[in-house]
Amino acid sequence: MSISPAAFVRRTAPATVAPATPAAPATARPSSTAAPAASATTAAPATPTAPATAAAATPAAPATPAAPATPRPSSTAAPAAPDHSARPDHPEEACAVFGIYAPGEDASRLTYFGLHALQHRGQESAGIAVADGSSVLATKDMGLVQQVFNESSLAALSGYVAIGHTRYSTSGGHAAWEAAQPHLSTMGDEIIALAHNGTLVNTNALRVQLLDLGIAFRSSTDSEVAAKLIGHFTCQTHHMREGIRKTMELIEGAYAMVLINNEALYAFRDPHGIRPLSLGRLSEERGWVVASETCGLDIVGAQWVRDVEPGEVIRIKGTGDDGLVIEQAVPRRRRALCIFEYVYFARPDSVLDGQSVYQAREAMGRRLAAEAAVEADIVMGVPDSGTPSAIGYARASGIPFEEGVIKNRYVGRTFIQPTQALRQRGIRLKLNPLPAALAGQRVVVVDDSIVRGNTSRQLVAMLREAGAREVHLRITSPPVAWPCFYGIDTDVQDQLIASRMTVEQTAEFIGANSLAYLSQKGLESCVRGAHSGYCTACFTGSYPVKIPEQACRHSFCAKMKPQWWPES
Ligand code: SF4
Repeated sequence: MSISPAAFVRRTAPATVAPATPAAPATARPSSTAAPAASATTAAPATPTAPATAAAATPAAPATPAAPATPRPSSTAAPAAPDHSARPDHPEEACAVFGIYAPGEDASRLTYFGLHALQHRGQESAGIAVADGSSVLATKDMGLVQQVFNESSLAALSGYVAIGHTRYSTSGGHAAWEAAQPHLSTMGDEIIALAHNGTLVNTNALRVQLLDLGIAFRSSTDSEVAAKLIGHFTCQTHHMREGIRKTMELIEGAYAMVLINNEALYAFRDPHGIRPLSLGRLSEERGWVVASETCGLDIVGAQWVRDVEPGEVIRIKGTGDDGLVIEQAVPRRRRALCIFEYVYFARPDSVLDGQSVYQAREAMGRRLAAEAAVEADIVMGVPDSGTPSAIGYARASGIPFEEGVIKNRYVGRTFIQPTQALRQRGIRLKLNPLPAALAGQRVVVVDDSIVRGNTSRQLVAMLREAGAREVHLRITSPPVAWPCFYGIDTDVQDQLIASRMTVEQTAEFIGANSLAYLSQKGLESCVRGAHSGYCTACFTGSYPVKIPEQACRHSFCAKMKPQWWPES
């Protein structure tokens, strides 16, 4: 049986797969004593029992194919309406990926630092996989990078080629240990590790086909489907890049992926280039680095070389120029880099598609001052993403910039959940107001977006309690009125306040004296990357990649019809 586009069009069952819970795993480990399956079509690492350290040694003996560990989704079951009440009131990024090929360097330690720089993109879990020419080792767990790794766990991860991942879940369930990445996959006598930023939109049917082939899954994530497909096709073709290429022909959606086998690093990106991925180089030809953002290159001393182009696969197996093999694996489509990267997700010290994120945000603030002026005494930003824009607003308007609130930087989404009493403190867990700056003032507050409106409402109330006389909210994006399916956690339209309320109604709900959003044209004028092709679907409802009907049945309000780009 083969996997084909025709086959996946035929099968559209939703995958509501419940992964088995490991006994007490701290780190991932396909046991080196567990017998691997005879081929990738049946391979799956054994479920760990209580491992302390990761090790996926090259398997030695074939085994009888095991029954799939995950229950088969029913092809007739109608999907239930999802419960989104617990979702955060802010766009949440999917993940960060990092990869390095550097013989002579401590690849896992450099990956650790790279993940630190990219921690803002995902704080639920972290993982590193490393290879030394003969085997692949991996460690992953729930929590922040510095909670998952320490000196001894990094020392155990020796090798010269490595990938890393930090996760915020948009697929495969929140806080699921099995969903932490990198995903390991056996391919005959070889193991690969894969890390993914983004969301694939058509993996339900592909998963069913892989299950039909006897391939077992440890999680319900889209990323594991991609890892298993690559393993399957690589086994068939005996060629890793061909396995990746065939997988890219099948999967749809947003992906920036890095992958290692026991001797090489691969980086590849979806044909629209929705999620970012940059290639850099260590000085004196010591090696190559790839990262979701350039701040991940900077921290390890790598110089940006180029972005991984949409639809491209880069194989890295050498430190010189000839160490790179670059292939246009699938045809490039109209560019659709997520414009929200500039608004909120990326760090201000990163450069995306040749455009400084800081400069783009400063320009958004200037433009907002021109589009939505107001008489006020001070301008403040909601840290961190609102700060450069507030500086821009202040410069353009002549109103002085003040801090207004201080961010509690070390409160993140970790596996230590706040208690109900702490949760009720809401925004106060993350932000503390400065009465000395706010008392008696008419305040312009610059923030990046409003999703459900509850956080903005708390923010305005908090500023008033601290003494602000007037609060004028200025938002550096247009209203978020459409769900995102490409790696951002805003996937049900009626949860978005802009789909239900006018700007005036929203201002009243939030309790602001005035509210204004940056116009679509204004936002696009501030983002001037080298290629100028952006996804703006969450503002416009015009989507670069079509979503299978079953996957978005509950996502749109009744009378709001999305537009799909012609080539999607
Ligand atoms: S829908 Fe919005 S958040 Fe999602 S990829 Fe497009 S621009 Fe980014």
